[in-house]
Amino acid sequence: MSYVIALINQKGGVGKTTTAVNLAASLAATRRRVLLIDMDPQGNATMGSGVEKNDLQHSIYEAMVGKAELDAVCCKGLDAGYDLLPANSDLTAAEVELLSMSMKEYRLRYLLAHVRKQYDYVLIDCPPALNMLTVNAMAAAQGVIIPVQCEYYALEGLAALLNTIRQVQKTVNEGLKIEGLLRTMYDGRNSLSREVSGQLSAHFGDQLFRTLIPRNVRLAEAPSHGMPVITYDRQSKGSIAYLALAGELLRKSDASVTTAEVAA
Ligand code: ATP
Ligand code: MG
Repeated sequence: MSYVIALINQKGGVGKTTTAVNLAASLAATRRRVLLIDMDPQGNATMGSGVEKNDLQHSIYEAMVGKAELDAVCCKGLDAGYDLLPANSDLTAAEVELLSMSMKEYRLRYLLAHVRKQYDYVLIDCPPALNMLTVNAMAAAQGVIIPVQCEYYALEGLAALLNTIRQVQKTVNEGLKIEGLLRTMYDGRNSLSREVSGQLSAHFGDQLFRTLIPRNVRLAEAPSHGMPVITYDRQSKGSIAYLALAGELLRKSDASVTTAEVAA
């Protein structure tokens, strides 16, 4: 049975999609069966996986509102090494349509119930909002990863986010766990980056992933080629960091994994 993880932060541009795509590819590189779900109408995870969001026959939107089967939506056999449930701007309509549906918070969870046994990990890339799409992701997930950019306003909004997670735990998903906060776009030469990283460490201790994702231009370039960074430039610092993150996650959830396997 798969482990389902949502990438959430209502703040925009903090590295949710970059983490979703590159963690998916890194887990796939360690021979885990991975499904990536794009739950953002921006469709960035779709494009970053090499799938043209404007040419989709079916998207996650149709599956969410019961107009298509997941099998018809799922892109399989991608070069990126994982399967993808793609999205585009059609998904904006789902936010509205869901509101009048029964069990509206659980649509994604029910959809996933049919495919969860086919994957080891399911990653859900969320939009920069705490809306019904994000609630569906949190209701379907067992864990959340919160990417946090190592910049001045990083801590702002985190309290609201943690509050929302607590609400979700009380209402729709009691078992939801904070898998970890992830420091992204870290620049060790920049004193502010070091300071914010230190503050996060002081506040969140063990809830922080030890792996730091550095600011790395290869990570920013890879999506324009429709590739995860490990395909685009495997030796880059960004690629090495996301492989290390996959290793850290696997060690937490799967004691049988070795560091050598992750580095392979
Ligand atoms: P949104 O909230 O709009 O969905 P997001 O949280 O998904 O944004 P990303 O799209 O992953 O954030 O990243 C925002 C921008 O920063 C992108 O242009 C991305 O390529 C770039 N970026 C992300 N992580 C890094 C990094 N570690 N180094 C350099 N650039 C990065
Ligand atoms: Mg995004």
